This record gives sequence, C-alpha cells and structure tokens, in this order.
Amino acid sequence: MGSVASDTPIETRLFINGEFVPSKSGKTFEVKNPATLKHVAHVSEASVEDVDIAVEAAKAAFPAWSALAAMERQGWLYKLADAFDAELSEISRLEALSMGKPTYQDVSAMGTAIMRYQVGKAYDIQGETSLHTPGFVNMTFRQPFGVTAGIIPWNVTWLMLIMKMTPALVSGNTMVLKTSEKSPLSPLIAGKAMKKIGFPKGVFNIVHGFGRPTGEALSKHMEIRKLSFTGSAPTGRLIKKAAAESNLKNVTLELGGKSPLLIFPDADLSKAVPAAAYSILMNSGQACIASSRVYVHESIAQDFITQMKTAMQSMGKSGDPLAEGTLRGPQADQLQFDRVLSFLDHAKEQKVPTALGGSKESNTGGLYIEPTIFTSVPEDSKLMREEIFGPVVCINTFTDEAEVLKRANDTEYGLYGSVFTRDVSRALRIAKSLEAGTIGINCTSRLLVLICRLAGSSRVGRGGKGASMSLIIGLS
Ligand code: NAD
Repeated sequence: MGSVASDTPIETRLFINGEFVPSKSGKTFEVKNPATLKHVAHVSEASVEDVDIAVEAAKAAFPAWSALAAMERQGWLYKLADAFDAELSEISRLEALSMGKPTYQDVSAMGTAIMRYQVGKAYDIQGETSLHTPGFVNMTFRQPFGVTAGIIPWNVTWLMLIMKMTPALVSGNTMVLKTSEKSPLSPLIAGKAMKKIGFPKGVFNIVHGFGRPTGEALSKHMEIRKLSFTGSAPTGRLIKKAAAESNLKNVTLELGGKSPLLIFPDADLSKAVPAAAYSILMNSGQACIASSRVYVHESIAQDFITQMKTAMQSMGKSGDPLAEGTLRGPQADQLQFDRVLSFLDHAKEQKVPTALGGSKESNTGGLYIEPTIFTSVPEDSKLMREEIFGPVVCINTFTDEAEVLKRANDTEYGLYGSVFTRDVSRALRIAKSLEAGTIGINCTSRLLVLICRLAGSSRVGRGGKGASMSLIIGLS
C-alpha cells in the first residue's frame, strides 16, 4: 500500500452494543506517535463497569446470533470482510500513527483473506458419531460457548482482531475484544464497518484499557466461557490464574518466541541471508516469530555475518511509517524502546561482540533502534534467553548437528524454528527434532503468519514433543 494521508477524524470510544460510547468514568489514556512522540489521541479507558456492560450486551445478543443458520452468519461476515476491505488504507494509517508500523509493508490486507478463509470453514464444524457401545448410538455436538473474550497485543493489531473475532463469531459465539493500550485505534474500524452494514448489535464489542483493570476484568469474568489471548508469557500466566480463580473458563494462549534459525554449510546463502535479515527487521523486530537466535556453521560464519551486515543495513533503512517506501519504523512506544535499550546496555556491559549497530538511532526525533547484530553471545545471557522484541539478532556458531539442536531447544519458548540446508534428510531430521509449533525449511517468517494459519498450525505455547507441528518448506 502507498503513502497514506488522511484527515479522517479518529474514533476513540468503546464500541458496545453496536454503538460508540465513552467510558462510564470518562477516563482516557493517551496514544502518542512513536515516530514523532507527538500526541495522536486520548482513548476511552474501560472500567470494570464498562466491561460488565459489554459482556451483558454480548450475552443478550447470543441467543439470536447462535440461532442463525451457519450460512446466515457467513453472509454477515462476508459482508463485513467487504466493508473492511474498503477501509484498508485507514487501518494502515491508524496502525502507523499508534505503533509505527510502516504503511508501505502493512499486512492488514492479509486480514480479510484470512477472514474469508475462516468464514468458509463454518460447515467443517461438525461432531462425531460412533457405534462402539452395543445397544447405543453415540454422538457429539459442537456447540458455541456463549460469550467469549479476546485479548490482543499491539504488534499486528488488525490481524489479531480478525483472528480472534472470525472463528468465534462464525461458530455462533459473541465476543468482547480488548485492544492493546499501545494500539487501540485500528480496531475501531471494525465498529465503524459494523455500523455501516447494520451488523447485529452486541455480537462483537470492543473495549480499551490496560491489563489492570480492563484485561483482568475479562479474565476474571464469571459470564465469559472462553478467552483467547495473544501476548507475552507473563501475562498468559496471569490470565490462566485469573480463569482458574473465577469460573475456570476455557483459555487459549498464543505467546512469545525466541526462535532459532540453523544455517548449515550447504545452505543457499543468497536465500538464507535476506530471509534471516527480513525476519528480524520485519515490524522493527516486534514479531513473535522473529528468528532472533541464529546458529550458523563455523565454516561459513564469517561470510554469513558479512552478508547479514550488508542486508540488514539496506533492508533496515528507517523512516516515517506513513511515507511510501519506508522499510522500518520506530519501536512501538517508550516502554518497548526502553526495554530494547536495556538489552543493548546489557550487551555493552558484558562486552558482547557487536558486528552491527548496538544503539538507538540519533537525530530521528522518534523511538528508533539501529539494526543490531551480536555475535559469540553466551548461551545463558539474557540476550539469548529473553524476547528482545527489537531489530536485534544474536548470531552464534556451531560445528556439530546434535549439539546445536540441544542449544536450539534449550529455551522456554517453542513457537517457531527454521533451518537452511540443501540436504533433504537433514532438513527433515532437524524439523523433527526442533521443539516448536511451526518449522520453516529454507524459509523464515516472511508471510509465515498467513501460511501457518492456513496450515492449521498449533502456535500455542511450546510445540514439539507431544504437540502438533506444522512444516513450511521453501521450494525455490
Ligand atoms: P502483553 O502480554 O504485555 O499484552 C497483551 C495484552 O494483554 C494487552 O492487551 C494487554 O493490555 C493485556 N494484559 C496485560 N496484562 C493483563 C492482565 N493482567 N490480564 C489481562 N490482560 C492483560 O504483550 P504485548 O507487549 O502486547 O505483545 C507482545 C507479546 O505478544 C510478545 O511476547 C509477542 O511474542 C507476543 N505475540 C505472540 C503472537 C503469537 O501468535 N504467538 C503474536 C503476536 C504477539
């Protein structure tokens, strides 16, 4: 999508029961543009009372919505997808303004493709039968939960909204969605589109606010039967605990990553280098599936690092997120920026070799971090163990396959892993041994979000042993 200029007024209220409403308390929080640090909007903050009102609206809407034929729900959601498509440039503008994602490489358009795919799955929701017990016929019915909740992060806001909302609604549930305090603006386009097409009121409601009290009010709510969360592991733990202490609601968690990328001597570096660079620079490194730990075979390490420096410098050119051609924006807000800087300071203190970058970008007026490569990083360093969520990659070397697999799997995360090699047996051996929910062979996270959703990947918590895994193989 090209550059986006618009004077369209920005909606900042809650969306409850088909209407935009201010919070009961009148409380708001500020969103600033991370590229300029200038004020963008004051957004309504939902109190516990607002959450209760939204849940009531969703509860009231449930009987009629769940009683519709699947085909009728599909009809509404296809109509909504068309209405969303008409708003794509506004969605991109709002994401750029609130969290700095460049409009030029925005992936929001993928949202409606995913939405149409998920809507099409409505008729695949079926129960099972068995004749295993003599004298009986056994059947299962797959029924909607009732009121569900979605809690989303800020890094791919619009995609997250689509991926929470569509499966819930098409299968007959209603929903209250909480946006992230860092990126609450683009979700309100969903409310605007619903009003435009006369979408049934109360079926989908949007509240804004922080973890406490807004998110907590949802995770503790006694009327919510199912909660789908995407965000960090610490928050995931709090949500499961709140669910356990309230009504034991069913909880689905999609958490963070510290994904390993293994590069063997026979890898095609003309593919591996741009893939590795793109993976850590996409969305300024603020991607759960970023390949943030690279293990390259010692025999090609020098060559690989030299090529990575060149690739990251050219692909990581920063600029105004609203300008056409900007490849990399700022970090999302001051908190994220300070967090990344704390990792860079730690690297300096520990004298970790720095092949590229290592500091904030000066003279930008915004929250920009230099594309950074650390090498020979101790495996027990927090640089290797924690999610940095910035354009910062650690590159270590290896000589032995079994030993590098051990290091790659020595993490509490298990979201994604990848390998570059021309040896088919080795590729499949590595894929089988990496403990992650999705594995890329000769590819990294470019377009991965879309591909693995369509492959039905289980990207929840730790994959690998005892969990399903999906495999994505680059063929070129
Ligand atoms: P976060 O955990 O800080 O916040 C996520 C959401 O949870 C926000 O809406 C926040 O307000 C809310 N929240 C915070 N505390 C809460 C509480 N106590 N109860 C209920 N809700 C609460 O994460 P973030 O910084 O917004 O997002 C970045 C994280 O998300 C990273 O770890 C990233 O890897 C992960 N992520 C994962 C995926 C995936 O598909 N697995 C996709 C995108 C992002």
